[in-house]
Amino acid sequence: MTTFQSSYLELEPRELVRFVLREAGQIDNDAVNPAELLDYLKLAYISFDFARELPPEIRQRVSSGQPRALISFGDRLVATDSSLSEPKSRFSVLHEIGHYLLPHHQHTLYVCDDLGMSAWTRLAFEQEANAFAAELLFQGERFSLEANSHPVTAAAVKQLAEKYKASFEATARRLVEKNFRPCMLVVFKQDSGRQVVDPNAAQSWTVKYCVSSPSFKLRFFDRVSGSIPAPLLARVAVPGRDIADSVVEKVQVGAATGGEARRVNAEFFWNTYNVFALLTPEAPDAQG
Ligand SMILES: [Zn+2]
Repeated sequence: MTTFQSSYLELEPRELVRFVLREAGQIDNDAVNPAELLDYLKLAYISFDFARELPPEIRQRVSSGQPRALISFGDRLVATDSSLSEPKSRFSVLHEIGHYLLPHHQHTLYVCDDLGMSAWTRLAFEQEANAFAAELLFQGERFSLEANSHPVTAAAVKQLAEKYKASFEATARRLVEKNFRPCMLVVFKQDSGRQVVDPNAAQSWTVKYCVSSPSFKLRFFDRVSGSIPAPLLARVAVPGRDIADSVVEKVQVGAATGGEARRVNAEFFWNTYNVFALLTPEAPDAQG
């Protein structure tokens, strides 16, 4: 039996995803099984503590972030850091499979860090591997069809994340990116700066990044800035609160680039690391 060689196939990444999912017997599964993809591709897999056991010569290849996953082409080996959560481990393995299968990525060794595997990386190869991993994780077009048959709500994010065994954040992002309806996801992060020197300082959560559906971008804006008002934050960021247990408010938001502020429906929820807001037009039918 020959070894899979993607360079023999002149396929677009999307077609390559479908091909691999089908050949590895994953096309009918709800959640893709990374172990079966690795078996199909004849890649070995190990998990170990990168902080303690990553060889120094490999660590040197990472510039600023925390190394989280690697693929060694010569050894046919994928490894991930054992401190990663289950959804992050799954995503990291799929990301390394992306490096393995994408035709121009075939180097000897990739060591990928948390920054490269984040949604806001500017490194082209990391963006491509992330996009490929998301296509595998969400079964290509299948998730897109589902995204459009569900309401744009925290409850839908939770249901789809459980079905595809993906993180809430990756699922929320995909739900918005693949939506035909106008909607936006705003991800807030906690500012640590002031509280380091002033334990009495109020918590402040500001916009980390935004993702908008194509029609939201067209009709409204693609980026907002600012922070969550403290009273609202106190209602959303409650320890033990379920991700689907959200707070719905009408809020006034303006584009990060300025211009007219718009009133929108905002559903706030949190996963203990980030606060999220799903924005939808206040009255979709009234706005042409
Ligand atoms: Zn990478």
